[in-house]
Amino acid sequence: MPEAAPAEAPVRIDRDLCIGAGQCIAYAPQTFVHDDETTAVLREPPHDAEADVAAAVEACPMGALTLRSSVPTE
Ligand code: SF4
Repeated sequence: MPEAAPAEAPVRIDRDLCIGAGQCIAYAPQTFVHDDETTAVLREPPHDAEADVAAAVEACPMGALTLRSSVPTE
């Protein structure tokens, strides 16, 4: 089963690491949103600028976000 990110998502969320700090939403509010457990999920479709998504990835205090371009393909 795929986890939080669909195949075309620009970023992957490790929901086990997410503590709901919300920095990702501050930087890329059209890409991330909190679910009712205050854990980050991707909006459908995510549509922030790539630079904003990258800033969100950098800002996450838990390292819970991984840009898809840096995710191994196998
Ligand atoms: S910044 Fe990281 S820890 Fe905070 S809500 Fe987003 S994914 Fe979760």
